[in-house]
Amino acid sequence: MSERRNTAFAPAPRFAWPNGKRCAVVLCFDVDGETTAFSESDRHSASVTLLSQCRYGPTVGVPRLLGLLSHLGVTGSFFVPAWIAEKYPRTIHGIAENGHEIAAHGYRHEKLPTLARAQEEEILLRSREILQRVSGLAITGYRAPWFEHNPWTTELLAQHNFLYDASLMDDDVPYRTPSGLIELPHNWMLEDWEQFAFHGDPPLGHPPEDCGKVRELWWREFEAMRDFGCCMLLTLHPWLSGRPSRVRMLEDLIRDMKAGGDVWFATAGEVARYFAANPQARREINFELLTPAGQSRHGQS
Ligand code: ZN
Repeated sequence: MSERRNTAFAPAPRFAWPNGKRCAVVLCFDVDGETTAFSESDRHSASVTLLSQCRYGPTVGVPRLLGLLSHLGVTGSFFVPAWIAEKYPRTIHGIAENGHEIAAHGYRHEKLPTLARAQEEEILLRSREILQRVSGLAITGYRAPWFEHNPWTTELLAQHNFLYDASLMDDDVPYRTPSGLIELPHNWMLEDWEQFAFHGDPPLGHPPEDCGKVRELWWREFEAMRDFGCCMLLTLHPWLSGRPSRVRMLEDLIRDMKAGGDVWFATAGEVARYFAANPQARREINFELLTPAGQSRHGQS
């Protein structure tokens, strides 16, 4: 937590966060469980041990992470394939009973680019209905499995009254898509898959990273996102980040983030609703402000 020099680059905040907070942090938990293997390939979905590793998420990782969130007094957003909700209803009840958000994430974590529009729409509506029935919560958010959209996905979500999506990567604060949907962008750096996912055969991921290195990667991005007024989505998979030393690392990280009292810990839905009610909170990028007065070579107005 080094103090920055007072000559450091300090651009205007990208967003005006509530109550004078400097940034927002959204803790996202993608409860993919066995659907990770199903959607990767037939070979993966036949691997008993890989499936057992994935199953650790909904059965052990989620309860442990719910305990951590409760201990730290923060809420998160849980993106759940509906197949998981049908197989592990008690896990879903635990998430809902502890005041967290549940959002849609496919049925069996289908890769959207393999689907026609009608298939994608059918899965979207069926998975939302299942999540609502099992959780008792209204489902207003969505994240595409593997984060990959089809060209029509945001339009489909808006058409069916979803409030927000959290899959794209073209900003670091919320924005409105042309279809009217709110987008909460993220990036691969703030994802645990690249750090911790590994399986021997069938081969998956990379040898797991050291928790200290991952904490440093995420802390550095957090510090800069706070200074620049951004919205930080940290994406965690309970079958990876529910392991003991990683839970300890998350505890240290979140506690340090909270220590300054200048961070808004919110669910994705809360951030989307805040932006919907306060569209002026987003500060659009203005290239004119980058150019000293009278020196524009392109004559843009
Ligand atoms: Zn996923």
